Amino acid sequence: MITLVRRAVAVCALGAALASCATSRPAQQPPRPAPSLSPAVPSSPPTLAPGPSGLTPVFRNGPRTAGRTVALTFDADMTADQGPRARSGERFDHPRLIAALRELGVPATVFMTGRWAEEYPDQARSIGRDPLFEVANHSYSHYAFTGDCYGLPTVSADLMRADVERAYAAFRRVGVPEAMPYFRFPGGCYDRRALRALAPAGVTAVQWDVVGGDAFATDAAAVARQVVDGVRPGSVVVLHCTRSAAPTTERAVRTIVPELRSRGYRFVKVSELIAAGHGRG
Ligand SMILES: [Zn+2]
Repeated sequence: MITLVRRAVAVCALGAALASCATSRPAQQPPRPAPSLSPAVPSSPPTLAPGPSGLTPVFRNGPRTAGRTVALTFDADMTADQGPRARSGERFDHPRLIAALRELGVPATVFMTGRWAEEYPDQARSIGRDPLFEVANHSYSHYAFTGDCYGLPTVSADLMRADVERAYAAFRRVGVPEAMPYFRFPGGCYDRRALRALAPAGVTAVQWDVVGGDAFATDAAAVARQVVDGVRPGSVVVLHCTRSAAPTTERAVRTIVPELRSRGYRFVKVSELIAAGHGRG
């Protein structure tokens, strides 16, 4: 139950501009497919095989028995209609957070919206060209892929794939050379219809097993404690890369990183956790 509550709290940040954050339901979670190697060329990123009936596969965490690895993930949220707010001075980026990750030498996966990449092209390019990081897809518009997702506007099923492809196009346009074939649903909300609609895109959906709770948090120590207490081997932690909705994240990371390292954890990108699932890590 606590897990569900935490999930609801965290996902509120994902719809930061929206008022109706409190009435929510947990994302649906079909059984996870068995990991398997992508049949593509050796240099291609590891992905999961399609799920039952060819649905988009869903990854939630890495192996629990393959050493103390943990993936910090940062959602770079920006909803398509937030341009006026950005122009009036609201900051959806978080350069100090990225600088802290570099200073601490922490690999991380940034789930970026296409809209964020367009608003902050220099930062998107810098993140995308830094081998410390990998850029993954968090949709173009940060609209929901289900009908009821924390008040987010909804993408219709026939436009879901196009929304994801539009984000990849935005990444290429600003100079991100190789965005990963990983997709995080806005709000973490998905259902069979969404998994079916995205199947032709060839992405692996990436959820999480640890909620950072940095959404609208004011107490960095509490965020750090929640992460440190929640992490297990193979965990995927969801945090945010947007000062507007998650102003304490950089400070929390400065506590999380040394604390988890002192407990023997090594930070990896999501791709390494997925690869470890089928013996490539
Ligand atoms: Zn989001």
